[in-house]
Amino acid sequence: MSNGTYKRTKMSYEGQMLEQLKMPTRQQVEEALLRALLIHGGVIKEFSAGQEIVDEMANEFELNDQQRSAFLETVYRKENRVKKSLLWHRLLFRAADSLAKDKLVSRPTQTFQLTKKNEWMLTEKGYDEALKISNIPNSKKESLPTKSYEVQKIVKKLVEASRPEHYDPFDKRKKRNKTIKESALRTRGFRQAIIEAYNYKCAICGLKINSPDFLSWEIEAAHIVPHRYLGRDDIWNGLALCRLHHWAFDVGWFTMRNDYSINVSSKVRLLQPDYGKIYDHEVLNALSQNRKRLILPADRQLFPHQNALEWHRKNVFHQ
Ligand SMILES: [Zn+2]
Repeated sequence: MSNGTYKRTKMSYEGQMLEQLKMPTRQQVEEALLRALLIHGGVIKEFSAGQEIVDEMANEFELNDQQRSAFLETVYRKENRVKKSLLWHRLLFRAADSLAKDKLVSRPTQTFQLTKKNEWMLTEKGYDEALKISNIPNSKKESLPTKSYEVQKIVKKLVEASRPEHYDPFDKRKKRNKTIKESALRTRGFRQAIIEAYNYKCAICGLKINSPDFLSWEIEAAHIVPHRYLGRDDIWNGLALCRLHHWAFDVGWFTMRNDYSINVSSKVRLLQPDYGKIYDHEVLNALSQNRKRLILPADRQLFPHQNALEWHRKNVFHQ
């Protein structure tokens, strides 16, 4: 619009306040929200007083006291009363609402149906956009602890499925019927479900650590029946393991008995004296002491299935 006077007279009460107080633009807030979502694991709570994210974002924009505390007064005709709402909250809400309209985030009501939490959550589309504006390569998606609506749907399905008595750890249809995008989502769903179930800890040694920027976890989601043998991408065929123990499990240095105690290969005796040590700690021998058990999820339904473990004992483990 070229006519400034016309624009001013047409501008809403809210618009005028935003301009007077030199508040950030909605576009700027939208981008900042996407970056914040990435840092907060893909979810942020609804905006209300006392929510950390509200102050965090205000700090990012270096808002002054006046900008933080300005409120709008709206008259509720029906009830004949004046409702006050913080201008900053409104701006955050409108930016999030606009992201939801563009399908970059799910709305709190929508997310609630999935996680029972009222949060804004990144969608896959929003995730890609957030990575782009944060200059993080898309390949990082695999290792970031960031939730997306689509992946969360898979996680929910995996953790809520009822534990089968007769479990077949092989998915014979795995290679067919799936597009690359579908299987990438499925892989991330599997990973997310496993590492959450095991609380980001190695099931063998309990190691829990993330990167200094908090963006990536060391923990890996291991298949018991490996992917290359068409092992299923589900909770009962998975374990959360640190990299060292993931490798040692995959090459058959140890396995688990039916009571989830750890069984170490007898071949450990044949190792060179200086092998398998971190300083004085003997990495494999330590596991065979005191019939050590796996560190398992809180929910028994999520424990690895005996059929998968049995396969590992017979086909991977070196007695
Ligand atoms: Zn470990």
